[in-house]
Amino acid sequence: MLRKNPSNPTVNVTADYIVIGAGAVGMAFADTILTETDSTVAIIDKHHKPGGHWNVAYPFVTLHQPSNFYGVSSRELSEGIQDQVGLNKGLGDLASGAEVSAYFDKVMRHQFLPTGRVEYFPMCRFSGFNTGLDADADQIKSTSKSTAKSPNKSPTKSTGQFTNILSGQHYEAHAHKKFVDCTYLKTTVPSTHTPNFDIASGAQFIPLNTLAMLEQTPEGYVIIGGGKTGIDACLFLLENGVNPDAIQWIISRDAWLLNRKNTQPSEAFFESTMGAQAAQFESLAHASSIDDAFSRLESSGYFLRLDKNIRPEMFHGATISELELAQLRRIKNTIRMGRVTAVGTHEIILEKGTIPTSPNHIHVDCSASAISNLEMKPIFEDHLITPQTVRSYQPVFSAAFIAHIEATLETTAEKNALCRVVPLPNKDTDYFIFTAAFMMNQYNWSQNPELKNWLLNNRLDGFSKLVAGIQEDDTEKRAIMKRLRNHAMPAMAKLNQFIAELETQ
Ligand SMILES: Cc1cc2nc3c(=O)[nH]c(=O)nc-3n(C[C@H](O)[C@H](O)[C@H](O)COP(=O)(O)OP(=O)(O)OC[C@H]3O[C@@H](n4cnc5c(N)ncnc54)[C@H](O)[C@@H]3O)c2cc1C
Repeated sequence: MLRKNPSNPTVNVTADYIVIGAGAVGMAFADTILTETDSTVAIIDKHHKPGGHWNVAYPFVTLHQPSNFYGVSSRELSEGIQDQVGLNKGLGDLASGAEVSAYFDKVMRHQFLPTGRVEYFPMCRFSGFNTGLDADADQIKSTSKSTAKSPNKSPTKSTGQFTNILSGQHYEAHAHKKFVDCTYLKTTVPSTHTPNFDIASGAQFIPLNTLAMLEQTPEGYVIIGGGKTGIDACLFLLENGVNPDAIQWIISRDAWLLNRKNTQPSEAFFESTMGAQAAQFESLAHASSIDDAFSRLESSGYFLRLDKNIRPEMFHGATISELELAQLRRIKNTIRMGRVTAVGTHEIILEKGTIPTSPNHIHVDCSASAISNLEMKPIFEDHLITPQTVRSYQPVFSAAFIAHIEATLETTAEKNALCRVVPLPNKDTDYFIFTAAFMMNQYNWSQNPELKNWLLNNRLDGFSKLVAGIQEDDTEKRAIMKRLRNHAMPAMAKLNQFIAELETQ
């Protein structure tokens, strides 16, 4: 528990925007504000470096989507190459976690701080608006809650408290314009995650980070988690020559997966990238039921799944290459008996049964869900901006877009009208809700010439440029775009029909 340091009186920090969280979202937001306005920005983060969860991710983590459209708008992250080797062969480069971390560090040191308009407060924990110091609180308190708890405090959201974790120095932050809460999505990674099941003291249980530090070969590996980190753990073991039969993979829910080939924002991949969009709209437009929609989305190549015999119940937007999928299918010992409730020394208890294990097996925790807060709230409020996704699968593009809207529009209502939250998906049918929200935003943006132009010139939007670059005589690309346009409205109608059906279930 941190204490106030009596010899360190509170220091006031004032800026137009007080950004809480120097992760990818906070950095992308600040970058656009700095580029498009004269505003000042104070950035507060409890980590020692910008980059958020990338600083504590497992050593072999990489981006899941191409580097071309990750990072901040003003600085390229991609090396502009396609991988020549490995399981991402033939596809756009994927920055490693260390590269992403170093990139954000450079953005801060070489771009943000030299403007003279940025103050950066690393190792500082933001504790709430107007409520005084609560150094243990990881969750930022909203004014409504804090007002209720502390009726004597001013209810304004333009003042907040933070403390340097190392020195104990206490700060009061004053935002001339707004606070920007870039912690709302609560990204969790294995190293910062506490499993919600019991672990016997004699069981070998490690977070994914430790897998790369093993000194001895265990009897076998038990990977707990069927999401993207579980996939990464399995691929890491297979790439390092582990016999697939030495891996037990506990998958509580199978997921629909996205094919990375369809996410490449470059000319060479126009057919797969834009073709997948067209196939998605066609599949939806022609679907006779929710089940039929999933079948069509799969047969058109939009969705992939691990096992053709198991109907996925989850959808988190995890992206995978076909080579990676082929590797994963080599693991035959997959356990689908629900969630783990306890890891013992000789057995693992799951919701639907028990499997044997041993003290010589390594159990790898991949049960953290990357985004743990799926509730939506308005992005723009009078004194607060809460970045969330406004385009599917793209939190950093969304943050830059939200900053542009903040910089160019006046009222909270008109800003929110163009920034409807695209809710983060969890279960399979969330796909319909989030695709409808995404399409609605795209449509609204396309009606606004200024926004169309911004999208065309923004690095984080690779797709507008791809479409705008089609030559008059390029009949193949034009045919793909025609399929896409012709099926967009019928697809939207079907999405609304399926959403209405789901609401009555
Ligand atoms: C393995 C993995 C791969 C991914 N690959 C991709 C990809 O390829 N493309 C893509 O678009 N997305 C990808 N994502 C999604 C990724 O989560 C987002 O792109 C993005 O990094 C999220 O950034 P963030 O700023 O929201 O969260 P974070 O990185 O968690 O940053 C939040 C920051 O807030 C700080 N903070 C929290 N509470 C406080 C407090 N009280 N006081 C001060 N500071 C606080 C934290 O220290 C942290 O630095 C991936 C995610 C994972 C886990």
